[in-house]
Amino acid sequence: MHTTDHKRGTLLGLAVGDALGAAVEFRPPGTFPPVMGYRAGGPHRLEPGQWTDDTSMALALADSIATVGWDLDDQMRRYVRWWRAGAYSVNGTCFDIGITTRGALHRFEQHPDAMTSGDRADRASGNGSIMRLAPVPIRYAECFRGDLARLATLAGESSLPTHASATCVSACRYLAVVLSGLIHGVDRDEVLASDWEPLRRLRAAEPLHPDVDVVAGGSFRERQPPAIRGAGYVVQSLEAALWAFHDARDFREAVLRAVKLGDDADTTGAVCGQLAGACWGESGIPADWLAGLARKDLLESALQGLLQGSDV
Ligand SMILES: [Mg+2]
Repeated sequence: MHTTDHKRGTLLGLAVGDALGAAVEFRPPGTFPPVMGYRAGGPHRLEPGQWTDDTSMALALADSIATVGWDLDDQMRRYVRWWRAGAYSVNGTCFDIGITTRGALHRFEQHPDAMTSGDRADRASGNGSIMRLAPVPIRYAECFRGDLARLATLAGESSLPTHASATCVSACRYLAVVLSGLIHGVDRDEVLASDWEPLRRLRAAEPLHPDVDVVAGGSFRERQPPAIRGAGYVVQSLEAALWAFHDARDFREAVLRAVKLGDDADTTGAVCGQLAGACWGESGIPADWLAGLARKDLLESALQGLLQGSDV
């Protein structure tokens, strides 16, 4: 089935983009040879095809949704298991954890309430919740046709346990609607248009944060690097991923453009990989990149859980 290919592509694309970017994370753009495929190294000294926290947290979120349905506390307990015990990790240990995420997991251990564990301050608006979003538009894809407001609400809620700022929540709402449109095969230019009808409905339900709405309005079409930055700030991260994706010829070109921005390259790659995977499907991801992904078993089991029925 057409949408199954696109759903699988959304999560696998996340992992592929993460793995491609991991080797050049924290490197300023232009200071490293162009990334053409998986390579060893980077700050975490990974093997080719190994992925980082972006994919680990997406796997934890997927496992939670597939196992218990929608339960933010359960999502957090699984993130804690990743942090403390290396669950969902490519190599059995937690690495590459963001400062905002670590703070939230620590608060959750003290007071286990996912509604209050996330930092609400605007300065804490990192890209840690858009990077792991894929399981939400995959599992709740049917909401795109039926109940768009519910999809947006769940996407926003998925941010709260770790990234509770209005900017992060808004970015997740927007990205989930875009991803679900792409999963359903809506044309890329249509989905990314600033007056796309579902986007107008999303704004009517609750206005986007002004900085996110600048991106949704098409800033990624007008700007070029160095104004486009693969940074950790959620707005720049989202903008960079859309810049790499919006006029790329195929999955390969989109994700390599994202990773080439350096800096938070694994996460720019992961966000762009979700977009490109939702658009072109698993069948659009180069076969050697799929075959070279580490711990494919973890990704397959997450997909199996997400795809075995929809919880709408
Ligand atoms: Mg990472």
